[in-house]
Amino acid sequence: MRDIVMILLILILIALLCIYLHISLSWHSIDIISLDAEEFIRKELDPAFDTERFRIYINKLLKRIDFLDENSVIFFTPFYDRKKNQSSLNAHTGLPGQKVIIFTPGWAARLYRESFAEKSDGAIIDLFAFVLGHEMTHKEQRRPIFLFGRKRTCVGWLREISSDFGGIRKSGLSAKRVKFCLEKEILDIEGRRQRRYGTKTMLRPHPTWEYRMKCWKAKRMTKELVEQICRDCGITDRRFLEKMKRIYVDKPGAPMKKAG
Ligand SMILES: [Zn+2]
Repeated sequence: MRDIVMILLILILIALLCIYLHISLSWHSIDIISLDAEEFIRKELDPAFDTERFRIYINKLLKRIDFLDENSVIFFTPFYDRKKNQSSLNAHTGLPGQKVIIFTPGWAARLYRESFAEKSDGAIIDLFAFVLGHEMTHKEQRRPIFLFGRKRTCVGWLREISSDFGGIRKSGLSAKRVKFCLEKEILDIEGRRQRRYGTKTMLRPHPTWEYRMKCWKAKRMTKELVEQICRDCGITDRRFLEKMKRIYVDKPGAPMKKAG
């Protein structure tokens, strides 16, 4: 019986490895936008979406973002979780170990619209730089594996908020500017729904934007902020709290970089 379980486990591991390798290898040849994203945009968001024009625009834009690692791949494609709203402005770090950062088709459509704007306050471009910086900061962090319940939520919140500071730092924008861009581009559509939940929904893996923006007032991950977030997540374990402080408190004077 034990032998059968072992063989099954090994087979499952081999299958997982194959899936991972398949995705990794196929991503080496990815373009900036996937075919199903193009299809989605033309069907749902903009029937006149011209992929070539978008490609030229986004490549120019990416050249201006100087904090971008040259090996990074920005990929516009529907999220794995198809139930998620693909027309929203959302991003994801992709698989661990990959340099790919994934943006929803909604982002591609919104940036494409910007490429026609004669006059613009640049809010969407700044927001894009911030989100990119946020996702890149996630890539530098460790992911929690064996954590459950409140502790998992807490690490999720700490990761989000410290990545927000990373996004602000990398993009060279002020927190005030990011807040303005967010309110203009995302929160006026999606935020109302989020805001209704307030900050009481403790077991959501992501804090609300309202909560995140409140944390930005601290300017960086201070000891007090890390403690506050842990408290808000209902953490009472002192040892865990100390560990979180060791991992997430920012060193003062972290380098600033400017987006073009
Ligand atoms: Zn995040």
